[in-house]
Amino acid sequence: MSKTIFEKIIAREIPAQIVYEDELVCAFRDVNPQAPTHVLIVPKQPIPRIGEAQPADEKTIGHLLLKAAEVAAQLGLQQTGYRLVFNHGRDAGESVPHLHCHILGGRKMAWPPG
Ligand code: 5GP
Repeated sequence: MSKTIFEKIIAREIPAQIVYEDELVCAFRDVNPQAPTHVLIVPKQPIPRIGEAQPADEKTIGHLLLKAAEVAAQLGLQQTGYRLVFNHGRDAGESVPHLHCHILGGRKMAWPPG
């Protein structure tokens, strides 16, 4: 299987602004930001998308969510707020088949999402 673009970022094969990393997850700035702060946090072991996660992924996904909140706070979003987004499949606009949580903040968000 060829590596996903996010695996290449984790392996430092392509550049990215990494803001957090540990043994299970890596967080880096989105190349095409949709908000003043737009970071993606991904599992190092690729899971294609949230709807294909398995019971064995529970620890990783729980860890990823807790770290998403920590990264948001580290980036100064704790008081003003932020949004966490997982896109699954075509209608949601998923474009990279490596599970990722968008951390978006630094501006007021609309609801419902577009
Ligand atoms: P999706 O639409 O799948 O939920 O989100 C994929 C995200 O990955 C998009 O926001 C897109 O801008 C971002 N992205 C795609 N390629 C790269 C890349 O090479 N580097 C970085 N940092 N982000 C990327």
